[in-house]
Parts: sequence; C-alpha cells; structure tokens
Amino acid sequence: MDYTGLFEDAVDVLRREKRYRVFADLERIAGRFPRATYRDSAANTKEITIWCSNDYLGMGQNKNVIAAMRETASEMGVGAGGTRNISGTNRPLVELERTLADLHRKESALVFTSGFVSNEAAISTIARLIPNCLILSDQLNHASMIAGVRLSGMQKQIFRHNDMEHLRELLEAAGKKRPKLIVFESIYSMDGDIAPIAEIADLAEEFGALTYIDEVHAVGLYGPRGGGICDRDGLMERMDIIEGTMAKGFGTMGGYIATSKAIADAIRSYAPEFIFTTALPPAICAAARASIEHLKSSSAEREAHQRQAARTKEILGEANLPVMPTKTHIVPLIVGDARLCKAASDMLLEKHNIYIQPINYPTVPKGTERLRITPTPLHDEKMIVALRDALLNVWQILDLPKGVDTSELTARKLNSGDLTLPTIGG
Ligand SMILES: *Cc1c(COP(=O)(O)O)cnc(C)c1O
Repeated sequence: MDYTGLFEDAVDVLRREKRYRVFADLERIAGRFPRATYRDSAANTKEITIWCSNDYLGMGQNKNVIAAMRETASEMGVGAGGTRNISGTNRPLVELERTLADLHRKESALVFTSGFVSNEAAISTIARLIPNCLILSDQLNHASMIAGVRLSGMQKQIFRHNDMEHLRELLEAAGKKRPKLIVFESIYSMDGDIAPIAEIADLAEEFGALTYIDEVHAVGLYGPRGGGICDRDGLMERMDIIEGTMAKGFGTMGGYIATSKAIADAIRSYAPEFIFTTALPPAICAAARASIEHLKSSSAEREAHQRQAARTKEILGEANLPVMPTKTHIVPLIVGDARLCKAASDMLLEKHNIYIQPINYPTVPKGTERLRITPTPLHDEKMIVALRDALLNVWQILDLPKGVDTSELTARKLNSGDLTLPTIGG
C-alpha cells in the first residue's frame, strides 16, 4: 500500500477544487491591533492589517487581560497539571465558571478546552442521556454542533435555516410526548444573520423541547453585559443551555456551557471530552475571566465595534462592492467563485498588505464563496478607506461582480443546501 501517495491524492482533490487551504504566517503586534507582521514563504517580512480576526474586540491585547495571564503564570506556573478529575481543577478555573454562570444568569457553567469541544461534548451527552431523544438541528449549524449531533447516535432531523414553519412541522410530526432537543446558533457567522430565538423558545415550550443555543459569535459583543443576543433581547432564561467561547469576543481560549445545575453536573459526570483531557491552564482562565468581567461593565468596546462595522458596510456599499446586508458585525463580501476568492485574497495580501482569508466550500455553499470581513473597534476610518481602495483595485483587476442580488444569493444557497448533514469542514 502506498500510504504516502494516498494522502497526497486526498489533498490533490482539494487543490483541483481550489479549496486547498494555505495559512498565513502572522505575528500579531501587541498594542498595535489589528496590525501584524506577515512572513512569506521565503521568510521575508512586512507589516499588514488583519481584517478577518475573530478577536472581534481586540481583547486578546487588552492590557489587563495580558496582565492577568502574566501574573497568574508567575504565581501558579503554566500547565493545569491534569484533567479536572486528577488535580486539574484550579482556583482561577472555579472562579471563571462562576463568572460565566453569572454572565448568563444560570445556576452553573462548565468550562471546556475549546468551543468546539464544548459543543461536541454537551450536545452528544445531553442527547444520549435523554431516552429516545430527537435532535432538531438548524441546517447551517457549525461543524462542532454537527459533530455533537452525530456522536450522540440519536435520531436527528435538520430544519431549513431559521425556518420556523419547517421546525414546527417537524415538532408536530414528532408529537408532544417524544423528548426533543433543538440545537441552533444565535448569530450565524458566515452570513451574519440572527436566529428567531423567541419563536424557537415559543415552539420549544409548546412542544416540550429543550433548547441549546450556540452564542459563540455574540458573547462579549451583544447585550448590556456582553451575554450575547439572548442577553440583548432578554431571552437568556428561556434557553436551557447557552454555549459560548472565550476565544472570539473575549480574545483568549476555551469553551463553555451555562445551564442548570442538573444538566451541568450530568455533563461533568458523563462527557469523555470533559473527563479525559487536561484542564485549561490557570493563566488562561484568569485572562478569560478578566476579559469577561471587563466587558460585563464596559460597553465602550461593543459600541465602537458596532459603529466601525456599520461604517465599513457603508463605505464599501457606497463603492458598490457586493456587501451582503447583515444586522450584525459581520461583513461578507460575495465573490461567488473559489478560484477568484483565493486570488482576491492573495492579491490583497501581496499588493495591499491586507489580510482577509478566502471562505470557500464546505464552510459556505458553492457559488457563495466570499471574503468575510470582521471590523473591530480598532479599525479606524483611515483603515476602512484603505480597505475600500484596495478592494476596488482587486475587483477591477480580477473583473469581479459588483453590487449584490440577495434574492439570487438566497436561492442559490437553498438549492445547494440539502438537508443532510454536510461533511465537516472548517
Ligand atoms: C468557532 C466556533 C466554535 C468553536 O469555538 P472554538 O472556541 O474556536 O473552538 C463553535 N461554534 C461556532 C458557531 C463557531 O463559529
């Protein structure tokens, strides 16, 4: 067996489909967010502006967050020293879970090593512990949620994205007696749209279902205390399980769920992804907590974030660039072709010192390939104008489509998005 050839062939398939992934070698410059040093394949360096970071507020470079990490590492060392069962539960981790439970006004919170792990562990364990559980999962759920649904081994039905009539149909067919778990996201990170959370809560109540919401792209960013869209809309208590990450808006690392004492205790006791892996290091827990506590009491970052995101949409829109209209901080720029999307991204980096990762299938449906722009409070007017000029130049050279026909886009998305679980891509 030619094992090497086999793996090379597998990767060649991706190359042919123009979705072979290349990572940019970056060194973020603390104190000068969103600037970074880029190193090309020949090890030449230059300074660039990052326009696609999920460190949405720049909290990863907040002075107090850095100080918390540094001080805790000095006091307690680096590693956690074990799994949560075997000497890995440390003081900063306990405090972090308290902070998270309070953020979402739940009885308990449980921290995992990443948001991915928290989704996989929580969804699979919850569903497995409910006899005859039926999982109702939004069509565009994140790969980590799909992994949790699959791993549970329980029956699943996919409802069309944010389609409440379809969800109702599936709930009616299942009947009120059968136990059900509805899993969905608050903000879908690729299109920047928001789920009808209150309607989902109403349906869950009517049909006796548990609700599981992924607020990964909203925590820290929305709500008076940064508790996400549910915090903003007063819906936290209507969700049974709220899942989030500390790696995006909070700028650090780790995932979590906030829920009832009973559910948290069951997941703590049954989920292998929680039990058999080393705990998050104390310094990271302390940094995450500093970030969350800061954003609980400060809205300055959130307001500046919304302002700069709106400004970016406005300036790019006025230039007739194909900005997908969103109600959130995410600014998708549709290219509609994998090869051109990659070419646009390369050209932005090489010629204009701007880094925006191309987003291709299977992360988004074919025909909706895009540049996903994430403005932060620290992308100022000058940077936005420079971005516009660079994009106009790239759009002209590559002869990319301008304006955006959202009706066509939606149709394409629904056609390509069949209701089976997609293969897990990034
Ligand atoms: C990024 C992401 C996750 C995973 O979070 P990490 O902390 O990065 O592992 C989960 N859900 C959604 C919707 C995401 O976009």
